[in-house]
Amino acid sequence: MDIKKVLEANEVLKGFDEEALNRLIHDSFEEEYSAGQVLVSHGQQMTFVGILVSGRAEVFIDSGKKSAPYGAIEAGQLFGEISLLTGEPAMADIIACESSRVIHIPHESLTREMGSNPLAARGLARLLKERLLARDDRPDEQTAMARARAASARRDDSSTDAVLVINVGSSSVKYAVFSGKERVTGGLVERIGQSDALIRHRGPAGKMEQPLEGDNHEAALKKVLGLITSPEYGALDRLEQLTAVGHRVVHGGVRFSESVLIDDNVMSEIARVSDLAPLHNPVNLLGIEICKRLLPPGVPQVAVFDTAFHATIPEHVHRYAIPRDFADDNQLRRFGFHGTSHKYVTQTAAAFLGEAPHVLKIISCHLGNGASVTAIDHGRSVDTSMGLTPLEGLIMGTRSGDLDPGLILHLFSKGKSTKEVETMLNKESGLKGLSGLSGDMRELEKAADAGHTGALLAVQSFCYRVRKYVGAYMASMSGLDVLVFTAGIGENSAGIRSRICHGLSCLGIEIDDEKNRSPIPVGQGAAAKIISSEESRVVVMVVPTDEESAIALETRHTLNRGGVSDILTARRDKPVPIGISAHHVHLCKEHVEALFGAGHKLTPRNELKQKGYFACEEVVNLVGPKGRVDRVRILGPERPVTQVEISRTEEFKLGIDAPIRASGDVKNSPGVILEGPNTSITLEEGVICAYRHIHMSPEDALAFGIRDKDVVRANVEGERSLIFGDVLVRVYPGWFLEMHIDTDEANAAEVSPGMTATIESIQKRA
Ligand code: AMP
Repeated sequence: MDIKKVLEANEVLKGFDEEALNRLIHDSFEEEYSAGQVLVSHGQQMTFVGILVSGRAEVFIDSGKKSAPYGAIEAGQLFGEISLLTGEPAMADIIACESSRVIHIPHESLTREMGSNPLAARGLARLLKERLLARDDRPDEQTAMARARAASARRDDSSTDAVLVINVGSSSVKYAVFSGKERVTGGLVERIGQSDALIRHRGPAGKMEQPLEGDNHEAALKKVLGLITSPEYGALDRLEQLTAVGHRVVHGGVRFSESVLIDDNVMSEIARVSDLAPLHNPVNLLGIEICKRLLPPGVPQVAVFDTAFHATIPEHVHRYAIPRDFADDNQLRRFGFHGTSHKYVTQTAAAFLGEAPHVLKIISCHLGNGASVTAIDHGRSVDTSMGLTPLEGLIMGTRSGDLDPGLILHLFSKGKSTKEVETMLNKESGLKGLSGLSGDMRELEKAADAGHTGALLAVQSFCYRVRKYVGAYMASMSGLDVLVFTAGIGENSAGIRSRICHGLSCLGIEIDDEKNRSPIPVGQGAAAKIISSEESRVVVMVVPTDEESAIALETRHTLNRGGVSDILTARRDKPVPIGISAHHVHLCKEHVEALFGAGHKLTPRNELKQKGYFACEEVVNLVGPKGRVDRVRILGPERPVTQVEISRTEEFKLGIDAPIRASGDVKNSPGVILEGPNTSITLEEGVICAYRHIHMSPEDALAFGIRDKDVVRANVEGERSLIFGDVLVRVYPGWFLEMHIDTDEANAAEVSPGMTATIESIQKRA
């Protein structure tokens, strides 16, 4: 059957003109399936929408019960379309029940065409609306979706792409090629610039070691590109087979809160922030420039920043208490490092526990030669021990970590030069300085065992500092679910882990010594191990970090996002009305009755723009440890869980530090007293500061080319033009297009009712 005819006849696609259909067919690929073959398996991350050209397939959902077919797909029908909007994995197995042909239309192409074809977008939105609303009423489908998400987190990415990861240091180049999650080849060039420069390479055919001919980074990278494509040692035939190259870049400054596709602008920005990381950024950039010259023109390059994961750290945490204007003019703030590693181990730990990172409070201790601790609240880094530079925080191999800035002034007053102070604090301090012996923990542990007092002091001080940060971050997040150890020391030293956690049962942290000492089981696909006891309230884990694999993963994500951001550029002119959301309270049924009397029903006062929502006549007073906020309006209808949304200023008034959360996500948030006419109740949790967000319908989402739960940047043109980052997109049938910011933000940005925003770009996509 003619594919074009099938597409033209499809309810959704018939809105496309001939040229659009030709473009879609050009981008798509076709596949034949025989009876019993799987078209889509549950948990599969969907990157395409399928159309059954001929044949018939049955749908089986994994809802925990052994199932009969849940439905069928007939020739001409579309499948897998919900993921275009939600990014969710497939919730069902789709299996051919006779010989069938399928055309796969990549998400990116379909989104592009939908963006410029409102008629087709409306058709698809109608279909999505039906399916999404139906899902709300079907517990079987909700269970199947939850299982599919868990399966997707466990699934090995079996794609056959090839991503080259490059980490250029001042005298070294580390590299690896990944196909899916598998490292197919990699190695290290060391001592570049010296006469004994060496390359160590491991390929599919085994290991090799050779002196490097040439004395600079260009010679090293030429050698690397030659080796990965060599018939003897390589894993590729040609460099054109590379899907992308991912570069580690240490500092992204304030500009880069995500990995980016590299172009000339990005390169000049990396150069611009080089004075913040003079030892790293210039050589990282050199690596990018050399690759640009040596690689075939079509291979995209991506910059993955060590600082990016920490872009979510709130202002009161990332600011140093120095004059504000001076700090802003000179980009003096805490940036944090090791972000790629902290993000990777957080996600690996959550997947290992069968949870999503956004429901957990995690502290990740990256303890290697460089060391840092990060507090990750519901997937967002909220504090980290390194600062403007990697010198702040923990005691490291040769870096001092935290000290009194007055000490540095004192050194200057004693006649030390900047260079001397820099060398002392970066190269001669830390474990090395304290022990007077070595900066290497393995050596120190041995020496301490043998009674070396300097080594013992260094080990004690190191552990004490980590412990202090763990306690501080538990306090700052008001609790902890998971404590993760990673990197050279964190992964390998049971003694250090035990010393750090010893005596912390008062905080719910208890290690099981046997589990702590035993190695991570190999060969069972285990990426981590739990070392806490059964009684421990906090799960303590060891998760090996793999920075290169994390960079490969980020690189792929960035490529996917890149395509979508381009489409968005074409829709930038569509205005999004701004709503200023005042404080409000959502109540559960039990609390309505407690506050207003048994059998009380909320009294609608006026309807809100979002269909089905209304402001009520009823108000409550909020009483916090410091003060009170009176007459806060209740919004109906009742919800399963009570939630209080307040602004930053009100948090201060009440004396509560509320976390920034998406609506509905109140686990482990602080509580407050609610005063009603009948009685007062003490909420144990439920107070949040809502994430800035944009509500929209599936139609709007398709028009913008964005998905539910994307995080975007929005531009507000008022008295002055302002970019709001970190804006969460929520898509639901019937939702009115509106961006919600809270009263404080509106005041600060001089936003008034009636103003609009435009969506600039996608900042983050899960
Ligand atoms: P990294 O920077 O992540 O490679 O970590 C290097 C640090 O990990 C050095 O201080 C090593 O001595 C330390 N390390 C590696 N293996 C062990 C081990 N088995 N016991 C203690 N420390 C170790």
